[in-house]
Amino acid sequence: MIEVVNPEETGKRTLNFIEQIVENDLAAGKNGGRIVTRFPPEPNGYLHIGHAKAICLDFGIAKRYGGTCNLRFDDTNPVKEDVEYVDSIMEDIQWLGFQWDNLYYASDYFGQLYDFALDLIKRGLAYVDDQSAETIAQQKGTPTTPGINSPYRDRTPEENLDLFTRMQAGEFEEGSRVLRAKIDMAHSNMHFRDPLMYRILKMSHHRTGDTWNVYPLYDFAHGQCDFFEGITHSLCTLEFEVHRPLYDYFVELLKGEDNYKPRQIEFNRLNITYMVMSKRKMLQLVKEGRVAGWDDPRMPTLCGLRRRGYTPESIRNFVDSIGYTKYDGVIDVGLLEHSIREDLNKRAPRVSAVLNPIKLIVTNYPEGQVEWNATDINPEDKALGTRDVPFSRALYIERDDFMIDAPADYYRLSVGREVRLKNAYIVRCTGYETDAEGLVTTVTCEYLPETKTGQANAKHKVKGTIHYVSTSHCLDAEVRLYDRLLTVANPAEEKDRDFMDMLNPDSLTVLTHAKVEPVLAAAKTLDSFQFTRLGYFNVDPDSTSDRLIFNRTVSLKDTWGKIAGKRAQ
Ligand code: ATP
Ligand code: MG
Repeated sequence: MIEVVNPEETGKRTLNFIEQIVENDLAAGKNGGRIVTRFPPEPNGYLHIGHAKAICLDFGIAKRYGGTCNLRFDDTNPVKEDVEYVDSIMEDIQWLGFQWDNLYYASDYFGQLYDFALDLIKRGLAYVDDQSAETIAQQKGTPTTPGINSPYRDRTPEENLDLFTRMQAGEFEEGSRVLRAKIDMAHSNMHFRDPLMYRILKMSHHRTGDTWNVYPLYDFAHGQCDFFEGITHSLCTLEFEVHRPLYDYFVELLKGEDNYKPRQIEFNRLNITYMVMSKRKMLQLVKEGRVAGWDDPRMPTLCGLRRRGYTPESIRNFVDSIGYTKYDGVIDVGLLEHSIREDLNKRAPRVSAVLNPIKLIVTNYPEGQVEWNATDINPEDKALGTRDVPFSRALYIERDDFMIDAPADYYRLSVGREVRLKNAYIVRCTGYETDAEGLVTTVTCEYLPETKTGQANAKHKVKGTIHYVSTSHCLDAEVRLYDRLLTVANPAEEKDRDFMDMLNPDSLTVLTHAKVEPVLAAAKTLDSFQFTRLGYFNVDPDSTSDRLIFNRTVSLKDTWGKIAGKRAQ
């Protein structure tokens, strides 16, 4: 077993490279000892577990070092953004267990950014380009060949000021002009080849309405927003590493004599096997109806994982166990599953559920008699006490727990063989009945009254124990089983394939005839349980008072635990 350490509980974990940087900065007295971070989602989709990695770091650093963490919506592109996403992002961050100190929107700074753009124009550091996006892209050059200067590059500041203010006034069509930084079309870093600062978008923005006709691009917005907010450590994923020099360039021009500036530090993006980790791709799944919505329990979204039965603790522990590095990789989904199993093992009450029921009749047990057997709610936590589980003459057992022609090492039911019925008696199988198709419908057995679980003189031993529910006490339920959404472990490696062609057609199996223990009548939406021998399940929000619906969060089998165990040997 690998040890998943929660630093808040133990303080044992070694510092990651970002915490080390922060501690060095604190030791050097940088920024007067201030630590300010931010989490900057673009509200163009729901958060996924990759974002959880960024959230745990941004909020975690602030918490650990007595700093503050802002939530800043990077709402610079009204085309793709929506308030629905803003609301869901706030809900998901809080569910994960974090609270921002300040709430900001990049659009709060549109005025300041615009003024800064005017300033750069006046300083001869920005110009309006009338060329199309395609032409500008063609002139960019390649990493080994220089680009070509735009014919509009040497416009005077006066002309640029006039054109830019008219762009904002709405005088020009979308796509007809852009504002570019005047840097160097031969620069070895492609991002310095006169990057775009502003484009025209005649779209209503969810916060600023129709105030703006020009919108800043990421590279012109992010660093400046960090600066306006006094961010000390701006943490982001590795793909922004090549943008960092440009981030520093604009911040340097903005800050003037100020000796404070935010520092961008990059860490590795989270990828998990068999998962899509991109809002764009998730949106496509939702739009094309390949999943039931953003919160479909197969989705890697935080709302999907929540609906699936993942707890905030399990996600935080998972993120903590994978750490932060400078190298991109793919994490085995088994590690995420390991983390929820560990958490639910401690907290989930045990119950019996039969997913594919057949009848088991205990022919020598008196008709009408019922025993309510006290059973631990969770053997890992005896303080939770016991529940009473009914045992009677007619039971349901799993179809898998009976075989007509069973091999020798099958320790379940077959005519002539014995098993223990969990927390009740040993039974000996005496026969079975089938329907017209030859499918087993009923199994018969006799119980051995002297073998009751917990009786001191129960010497009679059997190799197998199976679970059951009592037919006259159990409740009907629907159970939804989930498998991987993708058939491919690392979709990024499949260069020529569209991820939509890699979807697993069997990612959802719905069992409509499941039977569960009566105690589940009191279960509430999202409550988690261990179904004995089967796995962890929770109550789906689709459940109604007369129809219980459960999701399988994860099965009991821990492949990761096994792999880690072998590695440790
Ligand atoms: P996507 O590609 O899924 O849309 P994004 O990077 O565009 O993701 P943003 O809303 O811009 O999403 O991200 C907010 C923050 O979350 C950024 O700092 C980004 O670096 C971080 N982030 C996004 N995806 C991951 C990931 N897979 N692992 C770690 N951090 C991530
Ligand atoms: Mg983005």
